[in-house]
Amino acid sequence: MIELANTKTCTGCSACMNACSKSAIVMAEDSEGFLQPRIDVDKCVECGLCQRVCPVLHPIQNEGSKRKVYAFINYTDRKVSSSGGAFSFFARKILDEGGVVFGATMDDNLQVYHIGVESIDELHRLRGSKYVQSKIGSSYKEVRFLLQSGRRVLFVGTPCQIAGLYKFLGRRYEELLLTLDLICHGVPNQKVFNTYLDKLSKLENFSSANAGNIVSFRFRNLDSWDYRPAVKVTKSKTWRILSQETNVYMTAFFRGIIYRESCFRCQYANTERIGTFTIADFWGVGTMGKRFKKDVSAGVSMIIDNYSQIDRYLVSDGNVYVEERTLEEARQKNENLNHPVQRLEERNTAVLDLLAPEMLLREYAKKYGMLDAFPKHLVKMVFKNVIYGLGLYNMYKTISYKLGRTS
Ligand SMILES: Cc1cc2nc3c(=O)[nH]c(=O)nc-3n(C[C@H](O)[C@H](O)[C@H](O)COP(=O)(O)OP(=O)(O)OC[C@H]3O[C@@H](n4cnc5c(N)ncnc54)[C@H](O)[C@@H]3O)c2cc1C
Ligand code: SF4
Ligand code: SF4
Ligand code: SF4
Repeated sequence: MIELANTKTCTGCSACMNACSKSAIVMAEDSEGFLQPRIDVDKCVECGLCQRVCPVLHPIQNEGSKRKVYAFINYTDRKVSSSGGAFSFFARKILDEGGVVFGATMDDNLQVYHIGVESIDELHRLRGSKYVQSKIGSSYKEVRFLLQSGRRVLFVGTPCQIAGLYKFLGRRYEELLLTLDLICHGVPNQKVFNTYLDKLSKLENFSSANAGNIVSFRFRNLDSWDYRPAVKVTKSKTWRILSQETNVYMTAFFRGIIYRESCFRCQYANTERIGTFTIADFWGVGTMGKRFKKDVSAGVSMIIDNYSQIDRYLVSDGNVYVEERTLEEARQKNENLNHPVQRLEERNTAVLDLLAPEMLLREYAKKYGMLDAFPKHLVKMVFKNVIYGLGLYNMYKTISYKLGRTS
């Protein structure tokens, strides 16, 4: 009987499913909604390939060289990107060479999954952070097919997805394949996100004021460097910023109480990165030690060059700004470069409670102490909303970074 990683350690990377030539593996939801591989014993011929490609059973050997860290701004794309636009910078390079770019999209039904795009006009489908585990589907197989046909490929994902891809491929394809691993706190799942949206859309002040359902969800602002989750409902063209009471999904996300179990023992939460480059937000850049003189207001990316490849991609270009910084600075405000998120006691119930039809969002917020910090958080949120409305948010962000305050 073939055994794969157990439900506490399996990352859901889907390498095993992609590798099985007998289509004996499906990724199926567990009781909390996280995808786990399920083997159909009638189809399985016990060849063991799925076990051999599993990055949990056989962790990837890290061959990275001495890593260099850069603060990076891509002025062409940063106002439509989550942080400094690093992803779009690399994506454009690969598309210019006739390649294909794989990343996470969120479709019209607000489902998150990996797709490949072949033109710059389609890049918007991938931009923006979606804080839901993206379904890999058969994308590793598609990548292998493209590489074997001699096409260039960029693949972006969480480090466990990049590990899954490399284990599935069995080699790095250095000349053709460029991978970007994201610094990653952890991931909730689609089922929890769907249930949350459902509960949100049923709130009286949502449906009556806007007469419709949620048709779009934005995890972060793209034109400034901040988390201001917002929704669009049918018949409304404007984004509606979520209040503290209704923003429970992202609050639970940042508290780390709705992540997959594997995230609390993540083997990639360190500086031994596996992607060609690591990309992330350069939180706190210049606030400790050497100053960072550029305007940070619309976001600054961190790029970690894990395989000494930066010279291959960075040519002098007036639309980008690159500055070498230190690994110590990178680690200061990015906890997941140092260790995985700590598992809190609340994790035992927080996923199932959000899934429970009878638990209303307000009750959930109350149970998990999300309303406790009332004055401080509310005042901060109202203040941010007002200055954002006045068009002064980016100025505020720049000044606060100059003063060494990053919130
Ligand atoms: C689940 C998750 C956790 C993260 N945690 C951190 C963190 O702790 N610290 C930090 O500095 N940065 C973190 N990031 C990365 C950060 O949010 C930005 O995505 C990153 O800085 C890239 O910004 P950008 O401006 O280059 O990209 P953008 O142009 O905004 O593009 C975002 C890129 O991320 C990919 N992506 C989006 N959602 C997913 C997903 N669910 N799964 C896989 N890939 C996805 C997209 O395909 C796209 O390529 C996280 C991202 C995700 C998805
Ligand atoms: S052992 Fe082979 S046939 Fe069976 S599930 Fe794994 S890869 Fe498929
Ligand atoms: S290959 Fe990935 S999805 Fe399959 S068991 Fe291992 S970690 Fe889980
Ligand atoms: S925290 Fe680790 S295991 Fe969890 S999604 Fe991110 S990379 Fe994967």
